Amino acid sequence: MHILITGGAGFIGSHLTERLLSLDHHVVAIDDLSTGSVANIASFRSHPAYTFHADSIFNRHLMAELVDMADVVIHLAAAVGVKRIVEFPVQTIETNVAGSEIVLALASKKHKRVLITSTSEVYGKSTKLPFSETDDLVLGPTVNSRWGYACSKAIDEFLSLAYHRERHLPVTIVRLFNTVGPRQTGQYGMVLPTFVRQALTTQPITVYGTGEQSRCFGHVHDIVDGFVQILNCDRTIGQIFNLGNTTEISINGLARQIIDFTGSTSAITYTPYSEAYAPGFEDMNRRVPDISKAREYFGFNPTRSLDQIIADVVDYTRTSLHNHQPQSSPV
Ligand code: UDP
Repeated sequence: MHILITGGAGFIGSHLTERLLSLDHHVVAIDDLSTGSVANIASFRSHPAYTFHADSIFNRHLMAELVDMADVVIHLAAAVGVKRIVEFPVQTIETNVAGSEIVLALASKKHKRVLITSTSEVYGKSTKLPFSETDDLVLGPTVNSRWGYACSKAIDEFLSLAYHRERHLPVTIVRLFNTVGPRQTGQYGMVLPTFVRQALTTQPITVYGTGEQSRCFGHVHDIVDGFVQILNCDRTIGQIFNLGNTTEISINGLARQIIDFTGSTSAITYTPYSEAYAPGFEDMNRRVPDISKAREYFGFNPTRSLDQIIADVVDYTRTSLHNHQPQSSPV
């Protein structure tokens, strides 16, 4: 198939591209490189079945052409990272809502299969665990930008389903839970690459809040498996699926596991949320996906453990720290 990936130079987009190329698909990627990078695509950039456009999904003429040539569109381009979202709320809402609107409108015009990427953030601070696809969304007040991000993604979902019902667009929605692995940067606030880098450079491990909040971390390769399974399963059209790992760990537990794995002498420090993000910031205490629907529809079965994830991220971070070491000047 000819597959168009928006946000193709991002962390998930680049892994998905690699997998699709290995399955003999043709991939066209578009990425404005705002949070993606050319380093992410370096290993397959010259692959004969790959084309890259360093451009924005707001370039409607280009997007129309690319959608036209594709059999399937996978829409990953979005504002990412809780830190960045809180810092740039206008860009977050505009990218997520107006960007997805362009993708959906163009795909609908040509009746192309689309995968729309959403997020577990839409469950908000719901305490009914694990989260399943038809659960109520529990969001906080509009003064808190975090909920603006969740709402922008919820609007993407509403619009996708509206296109499906009213105009028969073959769309599937994927709600990603905390996805981690090589190439993810801690620059936008994500906890796992941040802690690994801190441990390897003997910096303090910066736990926010009490550290008793918990998450489930899924290896990007498991998540990519899910995307590929969805592409091969027409029954997923018009449906929403959680994709993530179900093994829960507290942020304190994560810090300890990374310290143990790396043998780091880093100390653990505690920063209040108001300082780490913004005054009034709300975090969710627990976030666990119910993946039974994905399992039932397409056999989704994440197998990579947190140990394996940490090992892969440590490897990747060691290499990038090594490559960015200042070179000693020649004598
Ligand atoms: N977190 C932390 N230290 C950091 C970055 C994040 O303690 O340097 C916490 C964050 O407050 C949250 C959890 O780790 O409770 C996961 O954060 P992340 O931004 O990776 O993903 P989220 O689940 O919040 O979308």
